[in-house]
Amino acid sequence: MSELLKSDALVLDSIRWKDSSKIITLFSREYGIIKVIARGVFRNKSAFAGKLESLNRVEIVINSRSSRSLQILTEADVIDSYNAIRPDMQRLPYALAILELVRQTIRESHSDTIFYDFIIVLLDAMKTSQTPAIMFIYFLLKLVSFLGFRPNIDECQVCDKKPSSDIAYFSLEKGTLFCEECAEGATMLRKIKSDDLDLLRKLQNFPHRKIAEFEVNDLPAQYFIDLLIDYLNFHTETNITLKSLSMLI
Ligand SMILES: [Zn+2]
Repeated sequence: MSELLKSDALVLDSIRWKDSSKIITLFSREYGIIKVIARGVFRNKSAFAGKLESLNRVEIVINSRSSRSLQILTEADVIDSYNAIRPDMQRLPYALAILELVRQTIRESHSDTIFYDFIIVLLDAMKTSQTPAIMFIYFLLKLVSFLGFRPNIDECQVCDKKPSSDIAYFSLEKGTLFCEECAEGATMLRKIKSDDLDLLRKLQNFPHRKIAEFEVNDLPAQYFIDLLIDYLNFHTETNITLKSLSMLI
């Protein structure tokens, strides 16, 4: 028995398969990460021509049979090809890095429509944001929460006070803060300036529907990204590699 399944989906990546086909990895709203075969993509007049580029948001129809490990893509219609992001080397690397993280941290076939919709909101915000790195850092913060490791950056885990000096420490191991007085002897700490901590707190509590309006003067983007990726690696026991970010100019 086969059935037709429909879903909104983002194209994560694709590889050529046999002469004229592609195996596409999709992050779908209804079914999570799935791999499908698009037959005849490379033939002239293929109905899939140009539709299955990485990052495209598509409406898909899949012919699914439980006895097959790969399902067959029968239709794809482009909802958004993100032309406001694609040619922009300040934006595209961050958008692709979100997809890389989805691929590397979300289990196959684990679907979550709220998380999917959240990513679509971020990609839309990235089209107009003056600081596209914000969308990516915000995504990282929400991803670690989604995976069950929401960091507590409000107060020191020992004395329960909001750190008052210019420097505090974030524990990669515990996902909590240590103030300067309480940090002695604790391990796996990263130094964090109070201004940066304030910014991270503000971001963590910012409503995602308004994220395009988030304003920031001085963003230590690479510092935040390294901190959150190290935190993610520690807790998921993975070794995330983000090739897209090396394209940043
Ligand atoms: Zn303390």
